[in-house]
Amino acid sequence: LLDNSKLKISSPYLTSQVLLLSTKQYINETTGLNLVAVKSMKHLSNYFYEQFEVNHITWADKLEYCIGALEDNTADFAVVDYYSANKAMMIAGKEELLISQAINSKIEISLVISNDTDSRLMGILDNCIQYVSTMDAYEAVNMELSNQKSVFNLNAFLHEYSTVILLIALILTVAVTALIIILKSIFHRLSSIDKLTGCYNQTHFENIVPKILEEYTQRQYYIMIFDIYRFKYFIQYYGRKVGDDLLRSIASKVCNLLAGEEIMARTSENGFVVLVEEGNYLDLIQEFYFILDEVKSSFKLDISIKVNFGLYRIDDRNELVATMINKAILAQRMVRDNSDSMFAIYTDEMEKKLLTESRMEEEMKKALEEQEFKVFYQPKIDLKTKKIVGAEALIRWIKPDGTIVFPDQFIPVFERNGFIEQLDYYVLKEVSSYQMKRVKNNLSTFSISVNQSRYLLSNPQYVDNICKIMDEIGVPGQLIELEVTETLYIENHTLLVRVIKLLKERDIKFAIDDFGSGYSSLNLLTEMPADVLKIDREFLIDSDKSQQKKDVITKVVELAHMLNLDVVCEGVETKEQEEFLANISCDIAQGYYYSRPIPVDQFNLYVESNL
Ligand code: C2E
Ligand code: CA
Ligand code: CA
Repeated sequence: LLDNSKLKISSPYLTSQVLLLSTKQYINETTGLNLVAVKSMKHLSNYFYEQFEVNHITWADKLEYCIGALEDNTADFAVVDYYSANKAMMIAGKEELLISQAINSKIEISLVISNDTDSRLMGILDNCIQYVSTMDAYEAVNMELSNQKSVFNLNAFLHEYSTVILLIALILTVAVTALIIILKSIFHRLSSIDKLTGCYNQTHFENIVPKILEEYTQRQYYIMIFDIYRFKYFIQYYGRKVGDDLLRSIASKVCNLLAGEEIMARTSENGFVVLVEEGNYLDLIQEFYFILDEVKSSFKLDISIKVNFGLYRIDDRNELVATMINKAILAQRMVRDNSDSMFAIYTDEMEKKLLTESRMEEEMKKALEEQEFKVFYQPKIDLKTKKIVGAEALIRWIKPDGTIVFPDQFIPVFERNGFIEQLDYYVLKEVSSYQMKRVKNNLSTFSISVNQSRYLLSNPQYVDNICKIMDEIGVPGQLIELEVTETLYIENHTLLVRVIKLLKERDIKFAIDDFGSGYSSLNLLTEMPADVLKIDREFLIDSDKSQQKKDVITKVVELAHMLNLDVVCEGVETKEQEEFLANISCDIAQGYYYSRPIPVDQFNLYVESNL
């Protein structure tokens, strides 16, 4: 079709032989032949017309169609290439078809480019053709013309791409191994980390500490335990979310303070353990004052957060870490309810003390059931009239063998284990019932004060609990007074104001107990809506000899009166003391001078004779 002079022709890349398939005997020079051929041969149609006297050529999509055309005689010959002939024989069966070679059937197929094209292209093409095998070339052409995909041959594929496959396999292996390692380390990290705070958990702590101790033999380490005091109640006030945030915040602040190999883990809901070096634990404890202040202001809390520490010096490095932690916890229990010290270091004596305590713990519930706890009463005397105007209820534990155990011996234990709550409510019940008996019997009435551990006050249900007990018994509020030690006023100021106000609505009086025994704040007096101030008995000791002591008592009484507080002076033992107190207009006196705390029967007699 084109002018040969305008073309460049490459060397042939394919030589094809044309074969003829027929069901009849091939008759040479037969005219008016009907041919069938696959479409991929369309490029040879000129050749067909030249070689045969063609009546009609049918172009088939598939080889199968060609064979079908032969079988139903719509075609005389099927024109196929060398390669398809074999396949056709397989499809139709060897006996069915005859194969013959077409005359002049060798066709060389070349590439053609325009003369204008860069002549170097033809050089490149010729070079390529040299390297392309006949089979490849055939397949490429056939595929292109028939628009078919080459048949996938796994062997050939593997052979051809072996290096690539090997490389991919290698990369995959490396990637999978790396992924396994990463996943393993993530899993390990997750299983050693406390989800809430992000510090380690106790299991991990127990695993890692022996390794640190083994490696750094020259360093002296301590196990330090700490938790947030009455966290249970904190959550009741502020909710779980604030509680969690608080724990997270404290944990991260403490973690930032750790140095060297020191590590920290969370051990319980609100408890943490730290492996700390000897030189650092005091600094760490001191830093807590700032941490707690910071947390209090950043969380806008209106109650203080208190933290106590228990420490254990690691002398035996082979001891189980769990045992070390237990010993630190034991030391912490010793300061748990002690406002004076923030931390304690474990000693063997603590263990003995704990043994006595645990014996007491075993006995206490049964003792309460069997009414071994008895309420004693100590009268309060009006300094003007010298008549009884009230009493204080003081608890005694009377063992079955008759020995009397005094509150100083068991109250601190019960404050640590929480049993004090039950005991204090029990005393309130006893006193309320006693008061109701007096009311019902038309006896003279006066308020009786009941001591309340500061443990109770941190319970948000406290006011409800008190009211419930009193309502059930039916005792009027005026007959009950609650005494709370001064230390609590300093610790949880806002909370206390709230509680006192609520109780005041029920006519229940409030007394600040042991005023002057701790770090008294005169400010406290102006801020607390209390009714009574009880001056600690320490003030009266040696007051006869010390004018200074007398002056202080005088001024305190004056100040209390200015703030509309009644003043009770405790520990009055002598006539001189009574006279002094009466002179300075102190309202009420309480002490051995009038009566020791006595059992209820004796107290009834005392009241009768006094009035
Ligand atoms: P407190 O509330 O300061 O009670 C006064 C203590 O001083 C009582 O000791 C009482 O016997 C003693 N006392 C009274 N007058 C005199 C005196 O003239 N001279 C001397 N030297 N002592 C005097 P008690 O009964 O041994 O109680 C000790 C502490 O135990 C109480 O101190 C109180 O804090 C606590 N307590 C007593 N009963 C209870 C209770 O039912 N619940 C709670 N939570 N604590 C209680
Ligand atoms: Ca008291
Ligand atoms: Ca007192």
